[in-house]
Amino acid sequence: MGGVITQSIFFYATYDVISTILSIPLSYYFTFVLEEKHGFNRSTLGLWISDTITNLAISLVLSVPFAALSLQITDYFGDSFVVYCMIFCMVWMCVVMTVLPSIVSPIFNKFTPIQDEKLKLAIEDLTKKVGFPLDKMYIEDQSKRTGHSNVYITGMPWSKRIIITDTFIDYSTIDEIVAALAHELGHWKMNHVPKRIISYQPQFFVMFTLFSAFIHNRSFYSSFGFADIQPTIIGFYLFYDIYSPVNLFMHFLNNLLSRHQESAADLYAKDLGYVESLCTSLIKISNENLSTFDDVDWLFSAYYRSYPTIAERLTALNYISEGNVSEESK
Ligand SMILES: [Zn+2]
Repeated sequence: MGGVITQSIFFYATYDVISTILSIPLSYYFTFVLEEKHGFNRSTLGLWISDTITNLAISLVLSVPFAALSLQITDYFGDSFVVYCMIFCMVWMCVVMTVLPSIVSPIFNKFTPIQDEKLKLAIEDLTKKVGFPLDKMYIEDQSKRTGHSNVYITGMPWSKRIIITDTFIDYSTIDEIVAALAHELGHWKMNHVPKRIISYQPQFFVMFTLFSAFIHNRSFYSSFGFADIQPTIIGFYLFYDIYSPVNLFMHFLNNLLSRHQESAADLYAKDLGYVESLCTSLIKISNENLSTFDDVDWLFSAYYRSYPTIAERLTALNYISEGNVSEESK
């Protein structure tokens, strides 16, 4: 059986390398044609090549052990692998979503402590108000690759870091930065990441349970040409194609939860008194990122949008632009 696992790991590493090679033309087009055309690209060819190689190395370092351990569990626990695979996936997701960003991000970007005293004080005031375990605050040099901007939180549950990209600082006031941070703190306060991880468990259960019906089915493997050997990972990939309609449905549910969490985080920032700055910040982010101000069909939106549209967010925050305020309502 060990040989089968080695073969499967070899398959996975090869799959990773080939999929990276196949994605190179699209990635090049995205960075140096699309993003360039709209003024977002700030990367160089050298940086893009080094990023591509580093991403592949990180992907191999993560995905090969993940595949190896999953296969060992499937092999070791036999027919009761479903529960153990679910537990393993949950632990893996916790590690990837909490520990990993602090390790991986510094490979790509430089993090400098925030120097602006006013900004530091404003952030400290907010974090104290909500009981956030702030450890450090950094500015990330995202501008060497892209004009896109962001504010986010990383670190362990008991010691967190706030990261603001230099691109976001460039066009935002202190109030707007703090308002965007209040939104992120809303995600933290309402445990959105753990809830997201838990929400994946029923999905894993459905997927692994259905997979257990295929895993030892010889005719399933042989109908795809694997008559002599039936590596589990090949079976999983073949199964995953059959599973894709179920996945499509899960995608709706995941986006529904994501949009709900985004709206809840907006309302959290509003309750803290940042509604005005949050609205102007959202408008600036939308403008700077050249986002479309679209009003699409609800079904399209339900499937493709993990965020409410900017119009939905401003409406939920009761935002009224100064230009639209009539004399009577003033
Ligand atoms: Zn959010």
